[in-house]
This record gives sequence, structure tokens and C-alpha cells, in this order.
Amino acid sequence: RAPDQARNSRLPLPGELYLPRINSRGIEFGDRMALDSLLQAVGSEVLPTAAVTNATEKDAAIAVALARTGFTFWSRTSADTRATALERAAELLEQRMPRFIALLQTEGGKTIDDAVSEVREAVDFCRYYAIEGRKQFGDGLSLPGPTGESNTLRLRGRGVMVAISPWNFPLAIFVGQVAACLMAGNAVVAKPAEQTPRIAAEAVALLHEAGIPDTALHLVQGDGKIGAALVADEHIAGVVFTGSTDVARSINRTLAAKDGPIVPLIAETGGINAMIVDATALPEQVADDVVTSAFRSAGQRCSALRLLFVQDDVADRMIEMIAGAARELTVGEPRDPATQVGPVIDAEAKARLDAHIARMKSTARVHFAGEAPASGNFVAPHIFELQSADELTEEVFGPILHVVRYKAADFAHVLQSIASSGYGLTLGVHSRIDDTVETVVERLAVGNVYVNRNMIGAVVGVQPFGGHGLSGTGPKAGGPHYLPRLATEQTVTINTAAAGG
Ligand code: NAD
Repeated sequence: RAPDQARNSRLPLPGELYLPRINSRGIEFGDRMALDSLLQAVGSEVLPTAAVTNATEKDAAIAVALARTGFTFWSRTSADTRATALERAAELLEQRMPRFIALLQTEGGKTIDDAVSEVREAVDFCRYYAIEGRKQFGDGLSLPGPTGESNTLRLRGRGVMVAISPWNFPLAIFVGQVAACLMAGNAVVAKPAEQTPRIAAEAVALLHEAGIPDTALHLVQGDGKIGAALVADEHIAGVVFTGSTDVARSINRTLAAKDGPIVPLIAETGGINAMIVDATALPEQVADDVVTSAFRSAGQRCSALRLLFVQDDVADRMIEMIAGAARELTVGEPRDPATQVGPVIDAEAKARLDAHIARMKSTARVHFAGEAPASGNFVAPHIFELQSADELTEEVFGPILHVVRYKAADFAHVLQSIASSGYGLTLGVHSRIDDTVETVVERLAVGNVYVNRNMIGAVVGVQPFGGHGLSGTGPKAGGPHYLPRLATEQTVTINTAAAGG
């Protein structure tokens, strides 16, 4: 494999990590990193042990009030000033990569690969929104109009945005939401997940150090009650939320019930993500891609594969190869570099997943039941075969894959069954028939479709990410339409004939 890897400059060589990165010229591939020295630096970080103080509802109200004063100043800064602060934040994140990796491993249970790509993603979000922000929030868009008149479309901040984030990407999603809101000229009150408060605390300290004024960015720690209090505050201008569909609905209800201005919600939520594998697919590649998509990050990615449809002619062979690839996975401590599947986030998540596995063991066919360390919040990868996709009615957020066989003649039914779940986040297709791929892409309104590859990939600026229906409202994070949705638009029409001087 070595010569192939050397030829393909996007793949890592042994002992290296390799990731795309964004700079002022756009996206560049070529960031190689020596794993050994990185691991050494991560190991020497001394991490905080003190308890985190949770905010009260009164603290939440104070944070919003302070952010309102911060907005007055921050919204009048130039796009260049705001972008420069985000670029400085990106530099600081890069410099402190070992520290954030160590935090992600200890607080978030991330493997080294996952932790490195997460820091990288946070860096990319800062740089990408800085680049897009300079373009979109500069002088405004000049529109054609009659002689004697100028028309300009400008973007400006909305006010105080509340940013509520999940634990599964506690750095990248947190920083991405906050950076985008700030770039768009808003003040922000950020409420990170209660499971990962220290990562958020250090990220906010870093953003302040990078030049974001204290008054423009406030951190409020706590659980869903504090999130709900922020959402209910009458002075907020919008909510950016990433998390479960149920919580997004509850936020929507609170916002809709308010008197006064209409407050928008941008929500990125979960999915029952499917992959379709037909009889022309390449078995080795399918096995690799399925295992990566379903089990990487212990299945705790919103994009992870949950439901695999395999054409019945090849199903036995495919499932056997997938189970074989799953058997090769190392489940264990996240700080061990050999680990591919780390723990799930907490005991509650483990109990929920264990209950699902127990239910599946009594109702479905078991194709693979992996092994995991007995103590700790470990859940081993499992593969179950269902009679029908209808048996999976909710997002199972862990390393559990459900397989359903289909007959070629029932292909339309497969598409119907994916569409009728109501979710629309990610979708995989493995087929060497162009018409099949085309049909799947065309018929299913899913946010991110991955063809003949794994379903991991939401590189900022390359694969803007987000779904539809029960999976979210859009716009896509890390894409060009994200920033304008965090802003208000203003059309300025000037009678130039009447200009003075
Ligand atoms: P969650 O919905 O339980 O919590 C998310 C955040 O919302 C947390 O900060 C939590 O404290 C807060 N919260 C809880 N109840 C609230 C309420 N009533 N009002 C306001 N805030 C409240 O989600 P989670 O368990 O942290 O994360 C996993 C979920 O996130 C999965 O469903 C996953 O699919 C989804 N997710 C989606 C994306 C995406 O880009 N689409 C990315 C990552 C995670």
C-alpha cells in the first residue's frame, strides 16, 4: 500500500495524520503531522480538575442583558476587524492543539484521530467564516438600478444570538456556531452541553484572547433548563441550535409562543441515516466504508450510518465481510493510540444503548456482537438484521448498525422507506450503475449524499453540512449561505442625483 499512498497525496503515510486546511487563499490539502511528537505533547498537558459552576436562570438573564450592550459596540465594527479576531483565534487553536486534544480525549472520550480532526475543524470554521465574512459583510452588494439611484444590499447583525451546542463535537460545533454568529455582527450567549463544559470554557477564553470583546461573547454553563431559560428570554434575536430533534422542537415552541418580534431558529438535528448497497458494489470497499460510517466515533456522529439496505443477491457475502471488518476494530481507552472505538459519552448513554442491544437481541438476527472492556462506558459494535426498516423508528446514537435486505424489484420501496422516516441528514449509496446513483440522489431530499465512499466527511467549505425535515432547518454549516442567515438584510436606496458637494 505504501507506493499507492505516496501517489495519492491526500492520504496519510504511516505515523502521520493528514488533514485538509483552510487559509486565506481557500482550501489547501497538505497538512501533514507527525503523530509521535503530537502524542507526546498531548500527554504532557495538565488538565483542570476543579468543578464547573452551573449558571442560574438569573445568570442567564444577566448574560443576555450584558450581551445587548456588547452588541451595540460589536455590530458597528468592520467585517475586517471581526475576521481578524477569528483568524487570530484559528492561530491560537493551532498553537494549542495538544491541549485541546487532551481536553477532547479526557472530557469527550475522543480517540486521537477524532480529536485531531475536531481541533482542525474548529480552526477551519474560524478561517472559513473569516474569509466568507470579509466577502459578504464588507461594502455590501451593489445592485443594478435606474440612473440617478444607487441600490446596495447590506448584511448586519441581528442582536443577541443564543448558541446551544451538543457534546459530540464539543469544540468544533461550539466554536463554529460562535464564530459564525460573531462574524455576522451579533453578540453571543453560548450554552455548551453540560457533559463538556471545560472544553467550552477554554474555547471562550481563547476567543476573548484573540480579540473578541468580553461583552460580545458570554458563556453560560448548565443543562437543558438553562438553555430553555435563554431561549425564553425576551431580548434575544435568534437561536442557533445543534442537538436532538426533540429539543429543537421544544425550542421552536417556546420561540413561537413569544409576543414581540419573530425570533428565528437555525437547527441542526439528528437522523436515521441510511446507505443503499446494490449487487454491483465492490464488497471490500463496502465493508470498509460501512464500518467507518457506522462505528467511527463509537457511532456518536449525527452523520453516522444507522440503517443499511443490501440487495438480497449479495447480502450474505456483504454482511459477512462487514462483520469481518467490524471484528478487526479495537475498542478501548481513548488515549491509547491503537483504539479505534472509544467509550460513549456517559453512563446514561451506555444504559440507553445497552437496552437497545438487549431488545434487538430478542427481536432481530444478530450478525455481530463485538467485545468491549467491562468497566467504563464502553459499548461494543453490533450488527443486527431487521425484517423491515419500520422497526427502527428513532435515532440510536451509538455503534449499532441495522441491516435490511431488499429485492431489486423493490428498489422503489427502499427509497420510499428512507423518505418516509422524515429525516434527511446523510445518505450513502454504493453502486456502479450511474442511473441508480442518479435516481437515489434525485428522489431523496437528504442534506449530504456520499456515493461509493464512507459517510464521514463534512469538511468546512468542501462539504457544507446539514439536513432537512426532522434533521434540521438549514442553512448548511461551513457553507456560503450560513452567515447571511445569521444576519438581517438591509437595502439602501440613494438618490445619487441629490448627492451633495
Ligand atoms: P440534546 O438535544 O440532548 O442537547 C443539545 C443541547 O441542548 C445541550 O446543550 C443541552 O443542554 C441543550 N438542551 C437540552 N434541553 C434543552 C431545552 N429544553 N432548551 C434548550 N436547550 C436544551 O443533544 P445531545 O445529546 O447533546 O447531542 C446529540 C444529538 O445532537 C443527536 O441527536 C445528534 O444527531 C445531534 N447532532 C446533530 C448535528 C448536525 O449537524 N445535524 C451535529 C451533532 C449532533
